[in-house]
Amino acid sequence: MLKPLISQDKIEAFRKLMEASANVAVVCHMTPDGDAMGSSLCLMHVLRAAGKSVSVVVPDCPPDNMMFLPGADEVTVASYHPTKAKYIFARADVIFMLDFNDLKRIDRTAPFVEMSKARRILVDHHLEPAVRADVSVSYPEKSSTCALLYTLLWQAGMDSLIDVDAATCCCAGMMTDTGNFSYNSNDPELYKILAALVEKGVDKDALYARIFNTSSLNRIRIMGYSQYAKMRVLPEHKAALITLSRDELNEFDYKKGDTEALVNVPLSVPGIVYSVYLREDEPDYVKVSMRSKGDFSVKEICECHFGGGGHKNAAGGEFHGSLGDAVARVIGIMPLYDSKLPGDGCGIASDGQ
Ligand code: 5GP
Ligand code: MN
Repeated sequence: MLKPLISQDKIEAFRKLMEASANVAVVCHMTPDGDAMGSSLCLMHVLRAAGKSVSVVVPDCPPDNMMFLPGADEVTVASYHPTKAKYIFARADVIFMLDFNDLKRIDRTAPFVEMSKARRILVDHHLEPAVRADVSVSYPEKSSTCALLYTLLWQAGMDSLIDVDAATCCCAGMMTDTGNFSYNSNDPELYKILAALVEKGVDKDALYARIFNTSSLNRIRIMGYSQYAKMRVLPEHKAALITLSRDELNEFDYKKGDTEALVNVPLSVPGIVYSVYLREDEPDYVKVSMRSKGDFSVKEICECHFGGGGHKNAAGGEFHGSLGDAVARVIGIMPLYDSKLPGDGCGIASDGQ
């Protein structure tokens, strides 16, 4: 039996708000990942089953590899259809904000939410929520928004409305935010939720194959190239750095999601404590992704130097300038964090790049 997590006051407030709301808008963070898409679509299916009119808005285009999720083709992409997105928020009685802790994370969709008179419900697992909500379900210790959403629905007595499509979306987010239950996954509650979702008909093996074992040829090639030719090891900082320029991305006909999880790869080397991936998305705009192991916080680095944030071991940000300047910035700040590295021997040799 799952353990109740959310206070009864919040559950009551959530139930009252739902009873009073016919039109629901759901929004998640830009560049939506499996947890953002999975939680938004799970909620869409459940609330439609409860008789609500539900629209999901994503700030920008979801990656191709999440478009298989049931209902993904129904989302409104705000960057393509701003007028429609604005209307969805304006007519909503309630707005669900899923998998983000700050309106900055929904980019140009933020003013639509701010202008709306709708009540707001936040369900999120990022540290330090900085967004106003009438009901705030924020648990940074939880590994995914999807697991949190399931717990909320279960505590509110709505889990019977979770059908196989909703369960599949929920399971997808739990899997992607834990690397298929390989990190942040020691919470026994996770497996109770997983069991409930499989009982609802989720084909977990097929979902794994679809999410983790399905690649385009271009993805396989760009992943191989990046690891072979573009990974620089900095043993003195126990770090690895991977960069991809616009020319390189174009050469491999890069599509969003093609380098998903690339930043994790260097961490499989025991001596590497953190890994940085710089992707030149636009001229003078570089997307920064970082991952770390143990107590070393990449969230702090992304917050202090790249206007970003995230979680202790998975964070991101951005750099306005050339790729070369972004590399110089990263290498320049690494010594500032040397004292936070674990003291044990590194055991990796410089690759001389
Ligand atoms: P990724 O490296 O997969 O893009 O992002 C990893 C995590 O870092 C995300 O789940 C998100 O929490 C956070 N993140 C990524 N990019 C940004 C950003 O630009 N700003 C903030 N605040 N967080 C980010
Ligand atoms: Mn998440």
